[in-house]
Amino acid sequence: MVSRIIPVEPFDLVVFGGTGDLARRKILPALFRRFCAGQMENGTRIIGAARTAMDDVEYRAFVAEALIEFNGDHTGCEPGTIKRFQEILSYVTLDAKGDGGWSELAAKMHPGRVRAFYFSVGPSLFGDLALRLHQYGMADHDTRIVVEKPFGRDLDTARALNRSLADHFNENQIYRIDHYLGKETVQNLMAIRFGNMLFEPLWNSQYVDHIQITVAETVGVGGRGEYYDRSGAMRDMVQNHLMQLLCLIAMEPPAVFDPDAVRDEKLKVIRALNPLKPDHVVRGQYLADEEKPGYLEHVENPDSLTESFIAMKLGISNWRWAGTPFYLRSGKRLRARTSEIAVVFKEAPHNIFTEDSGRHRNILTIRLQPNEGIDLDVTIKEPGPGGMRLVDVPLDMTFSEALGPDADAPDAYERLIMDVVRGNQTLFMRGDEVEAAWAWTDPVIAGWEERGDRPIPYDTGSSGPEEALALMHRDGRKWRDIRA
Ligand code: NAP
Repeated sequence: MVSRIIPVEPFDLVVFGGTGDLARRKILPALFRRFCAGQMENGTRIIGAARTAMDDVEYRAFVAEALIEFNGDHTGCEPGTIKRFQEILSYVTLDAKGDGGWSELAAKMHPGRVRAFYFSVGPSLFGDLALRLHQYGMADHDTRIVVEKPFGRDLDTARALNRSLADHFNENQIYRIDHYLGKETVQNLMAIRFGNMLFEPLWNSQYVDHIQITVAETVGVGGRGEYYDRSGAMRDMVQNHLMQLLCLIAMEPPAVFDPDAVRDEKLKVIRALNPLKPDHVVRGQYLADEEKPGYLEHVENPDSLTESFIAMKLGISNWRWAGTPFYLRSGKRLRARTSEIAVVFKEAPHNIFTEDSGRHRNILTIRLQPNEGIDLDVTIKEPGPGGMRLVDVPLDMTFSEALGPDADAPDAYERLIMDVVRGNQTLFMRGDEVEAAWAWTDPVIAGWEERGDRPIPYDTGSSGPEEALALMHRDGRKWRDIRA
C-alpha cells in the first residue's frame, strides 16, 4: 500500500528558536522529509529566527549539518535534495524581547498565504512572541502559532500562558503540540474504536477488566537534569502524553470526526477523573549502575524529592467506566524503551472446559513504539492430542508488515506540522483540555509535596520499584512485562 501525498498550498513557516535543539533534531528534519516527499509546493518559505547573528548562507549550512546528523537513514531523498531544500530557507536575527529584526521578518511574509509561527523556545517567551507578531502586523486571520510543551507547570501558569496567547490569537489559531498525538498508532486507536463494529460494544466496564498504559524509557535525564528536577514524571509525562492517551482510549465516540467534537469528548474524560488517592500512586528514582550515575547524582541534588518514575491507579466516574481501573506508569532508566496501551478484557463468564484448561482472557495491545502496531490475544485450543487444553496466541498486526514498506508513515512532527499548515487542530490540545489536566494534576502534586513523600529508589534496567508491582498485585492483577 502506497501512502498518499497531498501537496499543500505554498506557505510561510517561521521557526522561532530555529537554532535550538528541538529545531535541529526534530522540526527541520521533519520539514525536510515532507519536502523530499513532494508535499511542499514551489514558493514555500521556511525562516529560522533566533538571537544568534547569522545570514541566510550561514543558516543554510547550519541546517544542512543538522539534516546530515539527525535525518537518520531516511531514504527516498534524491541526491541534491538538501541543496534544493536549502533554497527555501532563510534566517532573521531577532530577540523575542526586543524590537531588532522584527520589521525584517514582517517584510519576508507573503500577503494572502497561510503563515505559521513555530514557538520552539522556552514558554517564558511565548507572550513576547505573540505580542510582537501582533505589533508588527503578522497576526492576521490566516496566522497559526505552534507552541511546545511544557505548557505551564501548574494550572496558574498554564492559565497565564493561555491568556498571553489569547490576547493576540483566537483559540482556532493556537496549536499546542503533544507529539504523542501525531503517532500513527495513536490515530489508529480512533480508527480501531470508531471504524469497526467489533470493539466498541465491548469497550466498557462490563467487558473490560482494566486498562494499562506504559511509557517506558531506557535513558536517564541526560543533559536536562536541572529542568527535569523541577518537573518530574508527573508533569513531564503524565499531565500531557499519558493523559492524552487515556483520553483517546476512554472517550465517547464523537458525533463527527471534527477537531472540536473530538476535543470536547477528551475534555469530558479528564473532568470525570476521580481524585487520585495517595495510596494509589508510587513514585521512584533510579539508582546508579556500574556505568551511569543515579538520579540524585544526575540532577546534582542529593535531597531531590522529584520522581523519575511514576505508577498510578485511576478511576473514571462515568457510565462507561465506573468500576474499571486504569493503571498508568512511566519512567526513565527502565528495562526497555516501549510505549503501549493494553486493554485487558474480562474472562468468559463461565468455563465449559476442564478446570485445568486455565484462566484466559483477550488482551488488545496497541503498540506505540517500537514496532508500531496492534495485537489481539485470542484463546484457542492448543494443537495436538491430549484433550482440550487452551492457549492464548496473538493476532499480530505490525503496520510495516501488514501494510508494506511503502506505507512508511510520516513521523509525528511531520504529520503535525502539515496539519498546522492545513488548519486541522484535531491532534492538538485545546486550552481548556490543558487546564483541566492541570486542575486534576495540581492537588496530587500538592499532596505529596505537603507530606514530603520521598520517591522509592529502583534499579536501573528494572521495571521500577517493587511497590509499583504491588499496586496491581493487591488488586489480583499484574503489569505486562516491559520489553522491547
Ligand atoms: P534550546 O536548545 O535551548 O533552544 C532555544 C532556542 O530559542 C534557541 O534557538 C535560542 O537561540 C532561541 N532563543 C532563546 N532566547 C531567545 C530570545 N530572547 N529571542 C529569540 N530566540 C531566543 O531549547 P530546545 O531544546 O530547542 O527547546 C525549545 C522548546 O521546545 C522548549 O520550550 C522546550 O521545552 C521544548 N521542547 C524541547 C524538546 C527537545 O527535544 N529539545 C522536546 C519537547 C519540547 P539563540 O540563543 O540564538 O537566541
